[in-house]
Amino acid sequence: MKKVAIIGAGIIGLSTCHHLQKRGYQVTLYDDQEPGSGTSFGNAGLIANYATTPLANIDTLRQMPGNLVRRDRSISIDITYTHALAGFGYRFLNAARKSSFSANKAVLIDIIGRAIIANDALIDDVDADDYCTQNGCLQVIRSDREASKKLQAAAKDKQADGVVCQILTREEVLALEPVLNPSHLEGGVYYPDTKHLKSPETFSRCIYRHLQENHLHHIKEKVTGITQDRQGHCRVDTEAGALEYDHLVLCAGIGNNHFLTQLGITLPVVSERGYHIMLDDQAIKLNRPVGWLEHFFYASPMQEGIRLAGTTEFASPHKAANPKRFKQLEAWSRELFDAEVWVTSEWVGARHSTPDGLPVIGRLPDFNNILVAYGHGHLGLTLAGFTGDLVGTLLESNVEAVHGEALSPRRFTS
Ligand SMILES: Cc1cc2nc3c(=O)[nH]c(=O)nc-3n(C[C@H](O)[C@H](O)[C@H](O)COP(=O)(O)OP(=O)(O)OC[C@H]3O[C@@H](n4cnc5c(N)ncnc54)[C@H](O)[C@@H]3O)c2cc1C
Repeated sequence: MKKVAIIGAGIIGLSTCHHLQKRGYQVTLYDDQEPGSGTSFGNAGLIANYATTPLANIDTLRQMPGNLVRRDRSISIDITYTHALAGFGYRFLNAARKSSFSANKAVLIDIIGRAIIANDALIDDVDADDYCTQNGCLQVIRSDREASKKLQAAAKDKQADGVVCQILTREEVLALEPVLNPSHLEGGVYYPDTKHLKSPETFSRCIYRHLQENHLHHIKEKVTGITQDRQGHCRVDTEAGALEYDHLVLCAGIGNNHFLTQLGITLPVVSERGYHIMLDDQAIKLNRPVGWLEHFFYASPMQEGIRLAGTTEFASPHKAANPKRFKQLEAWSRELFDAEVWVTSEWVGARHSTPDGLPVIGRLPDFNNILVAYGHGHLGLTLAGFTGDLVGTLLESNVEAVHGEALSPRRFTS
């Protein structure tokens, strides 16, 4: 039985453990933190079947200067993090070119299609059906001169990508979500097929429990170093000692950059932080996630209340949270619901984002037995089942599998 070590017990590492256990590998998981307590804890819970547009596109570039200088901005770049963005920045510009954008988008559409099926299977395998709802999701827009045109364009784009959606009038939006503030509401786009997890944390725990039932070996230590020797054996170091494996999979989120640096590899995967606040839902009843696209956040009904999650801040994952962001989310929630709100908790976490909007899944150049799975940006929950399955296929076949080249780390190193 081949031995595989997986570093990172977020949704990506857990799903990967599951797929490798299913294929008969002896799996050891490394993480000193509780499973699912990193970035996977704080997301909006969307299995985002509609998210078919890579962020690097002409519209983003056109809107970027305005978005960066708004007083109530949702996108910011921390000046002390700009050095880390150099390799990312020029590749982002490149990925926004029409030909690159179309190619990346085609891959994204295909892998999201596969991911929805893979996540259904994962949810089923680990008995997490009770935490998943299919009530659709709404994206709302405020009235301005262009609002109606923007709605038409958004729906047309998604329909061309094969996503089922429909434009709703203001009255139709309010019929679905009576708690929304009618003032300045133009209408929305409704995605009836979208699924939603009302506790991403519990989902991670369900997978972990299932792994334990299948004899997972979890070493609750921080990994301090990794290597692959000439014979191809992979070594994992912790303060408790070193162990050897046939294969190693790096699923440590933004923490992967540290390991890659040890191996002399640099990938343009950066920390794009997002925030959330939780609201007491005694007075506000929401039936499904509602996205307010102008401000890049979703309000999602969760087991513990309503979660407003989103925004973008390119900053070190280790930097303290910016309290202004929490205040801004609170102000937007008052506007979205036109009601008094009670914030019960606040959270910040680091997405690991690539310039082309595609994850990095594959073997490392020159270290054939070490694989990496990160760079999922806004879509780690959505792509979890797909990623674990792809890692399994890559390990078994020793060749690049589905979209191997487009997802491989080699696209940034060769
Ligand atoms: C505000 C926000 C909203 C989001 N909404 C959505 C959404 O609705 N839908 C969606 O699909 N995605 C969403 N995402 C993205 C999604 O949450 C992430 O892509 C996903 O959680 C990444 O999972 P991960 O397992 O790669 O990382 P993580 O959950 O961060 O897990 C990495 C793990 O590695 C461990 N680790 C790191 N270094 C070491 C080390 N040296 N030794 C041992 N262990 C280590 C950490 O402790 C951690 O447990 C959102 C993200 C944010 C920030």
